[in-house]
Amino acid sequence: MKKFSKQTILYSVLVILLSLIIFDIYIWRHTESFLVEGIRKEMKKKLSLAKALVGDFQFDEIDKNKMHQFAVEIKQMTSLRTTLIDKSGRVVADSEILPGDLKDVENHLNRPEVQEAMKYGSGLARRTSATIHEKLFYYCEPVHENGRITGFIRLAMFSPEFNERMNFLIGLIVRSNLFFILVAIFATYTYIRWFSLQLDKIRTPLETQREKPGFKELSRHRYEEFDLISKEINVLAQKLENSGQILESQKEQLMTIFNSLNEGVAAFNKNGIAILHNLAFRQILEVSEDYEGTIRFYDWIQFPPLIEDIEEFLQKGKPIKKRTKFYGDRYIDYQISQLKMNDIPLAGFLLTLVDVTHLQQLETIRQDFVANVSHEFKTPLTSIRGYAETLLSGTIDSKKQREKFLQKIEKQTIHLENLVSDLLQLSRIEKRKTEDLVKLKPVPLIKKILSEFEPLVQEKNLVFHKEIPKFEEKIRIKANEQLLQTIIWNLLTNAMQYNKPDGQIWFRLMIKDHNLRMEVEDTGLGIPPSQQERIFERFYRVEDARYQFPEGSGLGLSIVRHSVDLLSGTIGLTSEEDKGSLFWVEIPLL
Ligand code: ADP
Repeated sequence: MKKFSKQTILYSVLVILLSLIIFDIYIWRHTESFLVEGIRKEMKKKLSLAKALVGDFQFDEIDKNKMHQFAVEIKQMTSLRTTLIDKSGRVVADSEILPGDLKDVENHLNRPEVQEAMKYGSGLARRTSATIHEKLFYYCEPVHENGRITGFIRLAMFSPEFNERMNFLIGLIVRSNLFFILVAIFATYTYIRWFSLQLDKIRTPLETQREKPGFKELSRHRYEEFDLISKEINVLAQKLENSGQILESQKEQLMTIFNSLNEGVAAFNKNGIAILHNLAFRQILEVSEDYEGTIRFYDWIQFPPLIEDIEEFLQKGKPIKKRTKFYGDRYIDYQISQLKMNDIPLAGFLLTLVDVTHLQQLETIRQDFVANVSHEFKTPLTSIRGYAETLLSGTIDSKKQREKFLQKIEKQTIHLENLVSDLLQLSRIEKRKTEDLVKLKPVPLIKKILSEFEPLVQEKNLVFHKEIPKFEEKIRIKANEQLLQTIIWNLLTNAMQYNKPDGQIWFRLMIKDHNLRMEVEDTGLGIPPSQQERIFERFYRVEDARYQFPEGSGLGLSIVRHSVDLLSGTIGLTSEEDKGSLFWVEIPLL
């Protein structure tokens, strides 16, 4: 880039040089013509005086000696070399040349002073003399007779003063030119320094704030022109800052939305480097943020199947959509597609992904459920069919035996009935919403449920202990009678079912940590520690219990857990094999 200071110095020196040259030529010409004019006047005066003193003479006089005499006389009077030239330009006499030598002198008609004298009545010329090799002035005037030119008188003068004056003029011009050039350079340099200083007053504050946030306005400038620039910069900077702030807040808003997406999104450039990605992307793929914009996808995404798919996409350019098992039993759906702007493909690709572990789990649960239901139905149905076929074959004669078979069919049918009703109940509870719940006083309700259950326990010869302390009247929970009954009934049925003969059952009601706590304890089989978590799963049954109580569906505790969840409560148990179990349920008090 060109430098203003250099350029200015160059221009100003050029302009000054040019002006000086013009000025010098002007002065030179004027002075020279002034001096020449002086010489012309001097020579004219001398020639007029000589002509007056010498008197008239005729060019047609053929006496060369007489003519020479004239020339010599004029020279004596003027002390200047005198030449007499006739109208044809022939030199007829010269004060410095003997008449005999005149024949060698060339014709003078074309000499500038003679030509000028012919046209204007007098002529002056300056040139180097061929004889003395010095610059001489030649002054020439015509001689008339009867109004016609008969010849010319020419004087030649060597003027050392003229040379001296001209030399002095040259010296003067050189010195003054040097002085002017120096003054001009100095003035231009000083001006440029001053100018740069004024610019620095604007530039320096701008430079110092380049790295800093925000913009400190430039202060007012002393000179109007610079002040206008400062003002304009302030206005522009303010505008820039405003639009920067708007852009920043828009970017923040967009990033907030972008980071709030459940879907992980990342855009990569043509080199496979991530240019933008959101929080969900990092969380789903468990990658660090630090690498954005620095390393390629295969060093960032630590999941080989996905890397392979990206590479395949980059090779073939076909979008890829997949569900795959990720680390830690998680499932992800991902899609690799072309990066586009207004439907125009850009060099790069977009990777979107969703964590579908939950969906996948639901799918697995659904598949397991269908398999379990089929399995649970198959066993009783197979045995019903077996007994029915045996009965129909007519091979069993004994009435007692047939009755036994029919009883088995009835038992399996009851089991199927229990299964169906438990399934229906489970499905009803699963569909239920918390809106169905109401504020209620739990204690009287629980007492009523227990009193309905008590005869069943007695039938089984078990001892039933109810530990219900006196409660404050205002105790309330959010529930409904049906759910409470389902919970208590199922827990008590199990305590009864899996109890030992002549065993005992305890039902306790208490308040613990602002919860209504119910405990059902029995003296039954107990549950092995390894299976205590699993008994709440659908259809899960401990092997001994399956054997002891084949009618069970394995759905009871699952129904209980769902019901407790609906009441925002918690359920748990402590159990010891062969000693008994204690199931507890806690429902928050209002
Ligand atoms: P079901 O009783 O129909 O088998 P549940 O879901 O009620 O189904 O119980 C699941 C399993 O948990 C039972 O099969 C049994 O193995 C075990 N279980 C439940 N309650 C008790 C208990 N009080 N004592 C011992 N085992 C129990």
